[in-house]
Amino acid sequence: MFTAPPTLLGDESSRKNFSKIVHWARDNHPFYTDRLKNHNLEIELLQRRDILERNDVFLNGNPETSRTSGSTGIPVRISWSPDKQKIERVVTENFVKQLGGPVKVTQIIHSPHQSRLQSGDGLDISTPIDQQIEYIHRRYQTHQAIGITTYPTNAEHLSRYALDNGLDMSFIKRLGLYAEVLEPDQEKLIRQAFPLAQLWSTYSSQEVGMIAFRCPHEPSFHHLNFRKLGVEILDQDGNAAKEGELGRVILTDYFNTYSTFIRYEIGDLAAPGTCPCGRIQAPALSRLAGKVRGALVHADSRRVPFTSLSVALRDIDGMIQYQVIQNAIGDFELRYVRNSDIMSDAAFKKNVRAVFKAEFGTTQKIKFTREDVIEKGANGKFYASISKI
Ligand SMILES: [Zn+2]
Repeated sequence: MFTAPPTLLGDESSRKNFSKIVHWARDNHPFYTDRLKNHNLEIELLQRRDILERNDVFLNGNPETSRTSGSTGIPVRISWSPDKQKIERVVTENFVKQLGGPVKVTQIIHSPHQSRLQSGDGLDISTPIDQQIEYIHRRYQTHQAIGITTYPTNAEHLSRYALDNGLDMSFIKRLGLYAEVLEPDQEKLIRQAFPLAQLWSTYSSQEVGMIAFRCPHEPSFHHLNFRKLGVEILDQDGNAAKEGELGRVILTDYFNTYSTFIRYEIGDLAAPGTCPCGRIQAPALSRLAGKVRGALVHADSRRVPFTSLSVALRDIDGMIQYQVIQNAIGDFELRYVRNSDIMSDAAFKKNVRAVFKAEFGTTQKIKFTREDVIEKGANGKFYASISKI
């Protein structure tokens, strides 16, 4: 008899859903029939590499409906059952209803096959910013499109461009941001450039769809979609992380019977929390730090979000763009674009070393690589930090 782990967030119905999908998978899905045969109580965590070793068995003969970006290696191939697709549509519709109903939207997202954008309501994320702005204006004139959906880093670029050129973007009434963590500084800039836009943001993934949405009343909290998804936040030892403490995000999809995810460690960090809004009855996350791959590793093997180092690097005069790659503990590469009129190369490097020392406590090995531009990843997202550990 499999019961839900004590670390599962949610209520009695979550525990029932958890137990149900596990029993179903053991009896009907070859990947789990094999995986769970020697287990009766505790179900071990599912890692990306476990799936990659046997991705065909994991798909169980079902058609691939999407895949992960593969930015850290081979992509995981995913298949959503018709039921899962329907539930995801309903979740999205309910979310849009909460926002006040649908509006015409221009999408600017990664679109490798162009299929999603063929209807002419969007652009690929790689389109130059000036062309994006022109397109947004045109879509407003021809289709009354008053919404934009894109990634936070792209919204940041749009905002900077609009502010630099004194453009009035107040015709945009809704701005949706997903797929990357929205940083407070980005949000400030976006609100300046799009003063009348209602901002929404979700935490979602290719594997399971929407995981959580930002609370419309308390913007530092995200509420979990706990009716369709099991969420656990675990500390280093596998115990439930405390409120406010960053832990590993573990997901169980209750309704996808094609490529079923049970206790899947997605590779993100988040902290559980109790949203004070009192209006949405769902467990919440108080912090969202995004991909572990972007979290840097300290000498004591602690993973920390990139944010504080990032802010310090950004504040170095003349810094235009940067990306930190961690090869090993104490071993970094800084790729950067900077205005060299501001300070000498030696002064710049001294500043950078001081920033790293402040973050890590001791002097770190840093390789400096000067670039003309730092490109986005193959999936159209921008990574300011990449940990190879
Ligand atoms: Zn709330």
